[in-house]
Amino acid sequence: MEATLLQHPALESVLSDLAAEMAVRTDRGAVATYIPQLGKVDPAKFGIAVALEDGRVISAGDADEPFSIQSVSKVFTLTLALGKVGDALWKRVGREPSGNPFNSIVQLEQERGIPRNPFINAGAIVVSDVLLAGHEPREAIGEILRFIQFLADDDTIYIDRDVAASERATGFRNFALANYMRSFGNLDHAAELALGVYFHHCAIAMSCRQLALVGRFLAFDGRNPVAGHSVVSPGRARRINALMLTCGHYDGSGDFAFRVGIPGKSGVGGGILGIVPGVGSLSVWSPGLNANGNSHLGSIALEKLARTMGWSIFSP
Ligand code: GLU
Repeated sequence: MEATLLQHPALESVLSDLAAEMAVRTDRGAVATYIPQLGKVDPAKFGIAVALEDGRVISAGDADEPFSIQSVSKVFTLTLALGKVGDALWKRVGREPSGNPFNSIVQLEQERGIPRNPFINAGAIVVSDVLLAGHEPREAIGEILRFIQFLADDDTIYIDRDVAASERATGFRNFALANYMRSFGNLDHAAELALGVYFHHCAIAMSCRQLALVGRFLAFDGRNPVAGHSVVSPGRARRINALMLTCGHYDGSGDFAFRVGIPGKSGVGGGILGIVPGVGSLSVWSPGLNANGNSHLGSIALEKLARTMGWSIFSP
């Protein structure tokens, strides 16, 4: 795929053309309002960035403006939890697409409190519970934030406390999911504590440029290609990518794989992280969501970008 990139030295102009095209579209989806603080975000925003192996980040639009990454953070909490407990995690969380909305409770009853995968809310709450072991919530939250800052080598990435408080105030379904899992013995801490960690990592804010850098290790066999150090093993990076491809867009995961053809993880803040193995990491932000809760224009922009650049994990 590197050859493809070299044939397209004009990535800058591809991204700026995309940003210009997206700026004038009127079909922008609907900004999430169930977390009241997210409802205040301007739906006209659009940013896109690509982080490459040589350290360059090519970007366009509002790529330097921080936004709430929400569920994109679940990729990084999963990475940390696997580092902490390894494959033991899979006793408590599955690895199958759910085919259900992100906050669904229905499968949990049939499957006795074991969430389908670590990217639906229930699965990510179990991951938060794992990260909480032996820590105060404040310490676990600090560990997650520092890991993310380390990945981007940028300590300006922060937690938006207003978003975390807003989600806590209205997070009735997440409290229901957590308590329900606790009733099956799949939550070691009180719902309040596990959700304290969960709400805060969902409220991490950063720009498209920063997000592309945070996710870059997944495009390069688990390595930071510039500093050269390993974040996770190549096998673990491949598995996280596999989960992003199959489960990263909730009940729209199949559609994203079909249209875009790369591993991706979305969040209700309108961000998407995409991984093109061996080439780079992509991030896009457009706050309006489609019916599955994934960024409407963000998905369209990634589909166009992947097609223009010939990026797909299904072609050499
Ligand atoms: N914090 C959000 C929630 O729990 C995350 C959902 C998402 O980004 O998909 O509802």
